[in-house]
Parts: sequence; structure tokens; C-alpha cells
Amino acid sequence: MGNKSSKSNNKSGGKKFLKTYLLSRELGSGAFSVVKLGVNKVSGESVAVKIVSKKKLSEEDLAALHTEISILTHLNHPHIIKLFEVFDEGSDFYIVTELVQGGELFDRIVSKSHYTEKEARDLVRLFLETMAYMHDAGVVHRDLKPENLLLTSEEDDGNIKIADFGFAKKISDLQPNEVACGTPGYVAPEILRGDPYGPEVDIWSMGVICYVLLVGYPPFFDDDQRKLFKKIKEARYYFHEDYWSAISPEAIDLIRKMLCLDQKERHTARQLLQHPWIVAQDEALAARDISSSLAELKHFNVKRKFKAASDAVIMANRIRKLTEKRNTSGSSSKADIDVENSSNNEVASDKLQPPSPADAVAAEADNSPEVKPDATPELPPTSKSRNPASITPV
Ligand code: ADP
Ligand code: MG
Repeated sequence: MGNKSSKSNNKSGGKKFLKTYLLSRELGSGAFSVVKLGVNKVSGESVAVKIVSKKKLSEEDLAALHTEISILTHLNHPHIIKLFEVFDEGSDFYIVTELVQGGELFDRIVSKSHYTEKEARDLVRLFLETMAYMHDAGVVHRDLKPENLLLTSEEDDGNIKIADFGFAKKISDLQPNEVACGTPGYVAPEILRGDPYGPEVDIWSMGVICYVLLVGYPPFFDDDQRKLFKKIKEARYYFHEDYWSAISPEAIDLIRKMLCLDQKERHTARQLLQHPWIVAQDEALAARDISSSLAELKHFNVKRKFKAASDAVIMANRIRKLTEKRNTSGSSSKADIDVENSSNNEVASDKLQPPSPADAVAAEADNSPEVKPDATPELPPTSKSRNPASITPV
């Protein structure tokens, strides 16, 4: 590992990290890393330093880290975190990136008292533009979720950076039996089915984020992760009348085009940038007040914080096991994440459970399969109405 990684990724030109930077407070942590504030001792510039302990890394993790570094080096976009330099020293990697100090996007949104569709649309447009760039550059992120959407500053609500390319991959390197990865509530159905997949998986995740941005609760939720995955694999989500009647039909149409079960039918970022909701007049969308979604979003945000750090690694471990099982058995069967015989040990922790649904009835998405008469339909986690009669399809 040492030789290969030093040659390919030590971009520091022989400098020593601790001679170059002063480390201070922790900014956050992820499944494999601690991120700290750093100051360049010469220039005084503040940066973010992701410290990854080599001890914690398996061969695959190490390969993924090299991919993350190589991809971030390659990408250059105003809404993607910039990589400055990498130090491969002793027991750690130090990955020095541009510092963002505005916290997570969803924390900012929930601090608002007034919120309109225009604000949600402007964010979604920015994400789509960034994804179009990224996909054109031949990169798929594979772990888009709220905690990886960071704000540059306390003052500016609109300057967002997509962070954490830890699961990113060059599209051309994706294998037909590519390992699955991602985070449960945001993962695309084709990944859960073990099918070959491509950049469309990012569109799906962004569809989930877009749904949450509009109504404050997620399209897919279940206490039981197997049931959650089943719902995702069937694209079983709903536009509940009580929440969605205030949202413009164009926004709903956009979500259908993103949360489209058939990955070939799912629209690309470039296509979505032409969508009527994305190109709608500012005034029309600014007049659509969706401040009532903020209460739901606060609820969602609190729940999400509890499980954020461990979800991705749990998913990765689970997938790895499934993949190993598939490889050792020599079977060509798919790595179906919902399979009954897969080990569920890793998902036993309460922390990993998605937001709990209330009992419910739902207005069905056009592309969702029908709710069976005996199936328990669902309402969002905190429901405005539990009276089925009050819910009509959007
Ligand atoms: P991991 O790959 O281990 O999940 P991330 O890259 O997601 O690590 O970083 C973990 C957390 O650290 C982020 O969720 C965020 O809170 C914080 N963080 C990461 N990068 C930066 C940055 N450039 N500036 C400020 N905070 C950051
Ligand atoms: Mg992360």
C-alpha cells in the first residue's frame, strides 16, 4: 500500500503535513475519517483536513480512498469541494480540501421561518447543474444525501458544495456486477437489485433529496430495513394529498422523472435542467409558500442526525458480505440486498432505523405499483391527517 499510494497520491511534494499545517477544532466526522480545521502555517489560509487512519482501512477502503483522491483532483467545479493536497504520512492520510463553514444545507433550511418553492427549485437546479458537470466528466458520486451537501458560509444560503466523494467512481470503471453502495433511504432500486448501474443512481438519490426539500419528509421510510428496501425496489412512494396539494404539479412531475423505477426511463441531469419546474419564472415559484414543510423537515433532520454516520459503512459492509458470498459460491445470482438469507446483523442497531412511519393511507405515485387492498398504506412520519377519506391522489 505504502509505495503505491505515496507515488500516486502524495501530492504534497515532499512537505510534511504537521510542518505545513496547524490542526485545530473538529469540523465533523464520517464513517472512515475525522475532519478538522487546519491553518497553513505560511499563508494563514484556513482549510479542511480529512484525517483517515490507515489502520481502519481494508484493501477495498484504501482503493476507494485513492479513487476519491483521484476523482477530486480531476473535478473542478464551483459547487464541488476542491482538493488542495494529500499527505500520506505514518499511520494517517491527511486530505486537505477547501474549507466550507456554513454547515449542512438542511440545518440552514430548518432555521428559516419562511420558505418557498423558488428556494427549493434554486437548490435543485444547482444540484442538477453540478451533477450534469460531474456525469459529463465521467464521474458518479453514489452517496448523495443531505449530510454531503455543505454550505460555504454563514451568510450565503445559495453557495453549496457537494462533498464526500468516498464512494465516487469513474463511470467507465463501473463493472456489470459492481458492488452496491450508498445510504439506505437514498439508494437506487437497481443497486438494491444487484443490477448493472450507472450515473442514473445519482439522479434517484437527488430525487429523494428533492422530495424531502419540498415536503420535509422522505419518500421511502420504514423501521425495518428490509421493508424499506422492498419499497425502494418497487418505487413505492406517494404524494400525500395533505402535503402535496400545496406543491406545484410541475415539481411533482420532476420528482416522478427522478424517482422513476426504470433506470433507462429516468431522466438525466441535462434533461432535467430543461424541465418546466426548473426553468419556471422566479415570481411564480416565489409566490408558492411552503413554510409549512419546515416543521416536517425539522423532524426529519433530527432523526437523520442520529443515524447518519454509521449508515453508509453498514451498507458497505453488508454489500461486501453479499458480494463475497456471491463470489465464493461461484453463483452468478444478483446481490439482492433484500434477500431473506442475507445477514441482518449489521442493521440491528436502533441508530440505523429510518424514520418511523405512522399508520396510513396514501395517494399513489403514477409509477408506483398499486397498493394491495390488504396492504397497510402509509402516511408520512408525522401525519397531518390519518383519515383515509381525506386523502385523494395528487
Ligand atoms: P466521510 O467520507 O468519512 O463520510 P466526509 O467527507 O463526509 O467524510 O466528512 C465528514 C464530515 O466532516 C462532513 O459531513 C462535514 O460535516 C465535515 N466536512 C467534510 N468536509 C468538510 C469541509 N471541506 N469543510 C467543512 N466541513 C467538512
Ligand atoms: Mg460523509
